[in-house]
Amino acid sequence: MIERSFLVRVHDGLHARPATQFVKLAKSFSSDIQITCNAQTASAKSAVKLMLLGIKENDEATLRVEGEDETEALSALATFLQTPTAGDVALKKSDEPASPSDPAPQAGRAKRAGWGIAASEGTAIGPVFAFFPPVLKIEPHRVEDTDAEVARFAEAVDSVTSAFARNKERPEISADAVGIIDALIDLAHDTDFSDEVGAAIRTRQDAASAAMAVGTRLTESFEAMEDPYIRARAEDMRSVTRQIVLALLGQRDVSLDELSCGSIIVADEVTAWDLAKARLSDVAGIVCRKGAATSHVAIMARAYGIPAVLGAAVDEEHLKSAQIIGLDGTTGQVFVDPDTETRMSLTQAIERETADRKALEAYRTIEPVTSDGRKVEVAANLGTLAEIPAALEAGAMGVGLFRTEFLFMERKTLPTEDEQAETYRKLAEAFAPYPVVIRTLDIGGDKPIAGVDFEHEDNPFLGWRGVRMCLERTDVFKPQLRALLRASVVGNVKVLLPMIADGSEVEAVRDLFAQCQDELEREGIPCGTFELGVMIETPAAVFLAGDLAQKVDFFSVGTNDLTQYVMAADRLNPKVANLNRTEHPAVLAAIAAACKAAREAGIWIGVCGEAAARPDLISFFVENGVTELSMSSAAIPRAKRCVTEL
Ligand code: PEP
Ligand code: MG
Repeated sequence: MIERSFLVRVHDGLHARPATQFVKLAKSFSSDIQITCNAQTASAKSAVKLMLLGIKENDEATLRVEGEDETEALSALATFLQTPTAGDVALKKSDEPASPSDPAPQAGRAKRAGWGIAASEGTAIGPVFAFFPPVLKIEPHRVEDTDAEVARFAEAVDSVTSAFARNKERPEISADAVGIIDALIDLAHDTDFSDEVGAAIRTRQDAASAAMAVGTRLTESFEAMEDPYIRARAEDMRSVTRQIVLALLGQRDVSLDELSCGSIIVADEVTAWDLAKARLSDVAGIVCRKGAATSHVAIMARAYGIPAVLGAAVDEEHLKSAQIIGLDGTTGQVFVDPDTETRMSLTQAIERETADRKALEAYRTIEPVTSDGRKVEVAANLGTLAEIPAALEAGAMGVGLFRTEFLFMERKTLPTEDEQAETYRKLAEAFAPYPVVIRTLDIGGDKPIAGVDFEHEDNPFLGWRGVRMCLERTDVFKPQLRALLRASVVGNVKVLLPMIADGSEVEAVRDLFAQCQDELEREGIPCGTFELGVMIETPAAVFLAGDLAQKVDFFSVGTNDLTQYVMAADRLNPKVANLNRTEHPAVLAAIAAACKAAREAGIWIGVCGEAAARPDLISFFVENGVTELSMSSAAIPRAKRCVTEL
């Protein structure tokens, strides 16, 4: 028996349609399933009883599941409860017998379905592009001329990296994809890799076997890492190794550039390198049996708005032989050769999503004002320049949070001052005259970067992160401050400091800025001016808000961290998810206190945590005087509509 509690995220709760869908899903499992809410318990297989529980959005519900398929059932039902749009699409579970009214589209073909990680939201259905590259057939043998074999390996590396580089020249390639290709080229040229392969060849191993063995060992080392970002690099290492071995064997790979428009890529695994070869506008969806939400493929799918389910628990043979695949990237569901009813509901969901996007399009160019005349800027949270077009398309009124840590992560060396200045300047120019709020490096012991040694910390979220690390490592921080001063000549840059817990931290940063400005002026490099603000994300910053407001030009509430620190509930720990709620009165009181301090000091205040996009909280923020809401681009039109309707 397993029992878990969840916060219900289904819009408007389990009223008629979602309740029916929920019961249909529950009935597809053999386990006994009870649901408790508001101190009452009912069977999850009875729609009437379920509706009588009156479960509303944001209520806490407990599922108690007992039976053979309890794990699968709990996971499916939990996903449903935590999905705002659940209930919009008819849900089905694997191997569900066709109902008598199901007109079977392909007689004799069993329907198959499964669940995976909801990696990129949206619904899709389309013909399968089965991407199952050939198995490498290496025949290990002893080499006599080891010098020649080492040279053959070097040639293979060159031919692979040249092919990588040629792909960067394609006109439609995005900056994101170029960055990924550069990372692959770096891996292929890695000296650890080539030295180890060279050493193995000198023991008379053939180059293909040696490259495979070393590449596999390095891939496994990446996979064993705790940090999900570093773990995701295993995918790149595997991909590079494969390309080199294929080159050594003279074999040809299957390629996604053969994909036809509207297809769903179905694979065991798709690497970012594979995906970079496809015309992304032709890809309707992606379903993979491997992969995680932080892998490059997931990042690319989200950036290009391609619905994706990764880590899908669907039998490989069923995927390989499928003709039509449907997927719901919001819930993580996959439908293999769906029946007519499921196809219809998927098509309807796609139509609804398209209509929703269309209806919200009207808000794209709107600068929202409440009925009592308050203006609210709805801006984008970005991490890379590649996300700019999507933000502009969504109608972002500037950038409320540019997380600079993305520039520092996933690379082998620290970005230079010039690289940073160029990035910040391009960002500012793209959104001018709207403001762009650039946050200084907020990296911590849980997410290391190359170039800074982080010692192990028992509580990295309470540790050496954000401004704390930067003030000690001025060799890392000053190039960023100089780059910010240089980029702010554009005129619309604002600078935001993360993890502030004491006024002295702001003063120390101001001193460093003054030093950098002096240096730049002496060097004859032009500097601009900018507003300086602090994140309100520690309880200390809330209690000191009155004092901090005298030292800065604006506040930005980081609800993600503020919630975890006010509630003492780790934002990454699902066991305390019930406490990790921004709508908790304690968190709202903290936000209201920061707003009051800002009002009294006459400075502006924004919200840039995930909660900024929540329709149920936007009125609270605006009533308390928040004038900027910053969020992921996709959420912008809806937030604009919310503000307009206030
Ligand atoms: C926050 O804490 O709310 C925030 C926006 O910062 P991050 O999620 O990057 O910690
Ligand atoms: Mg934060």
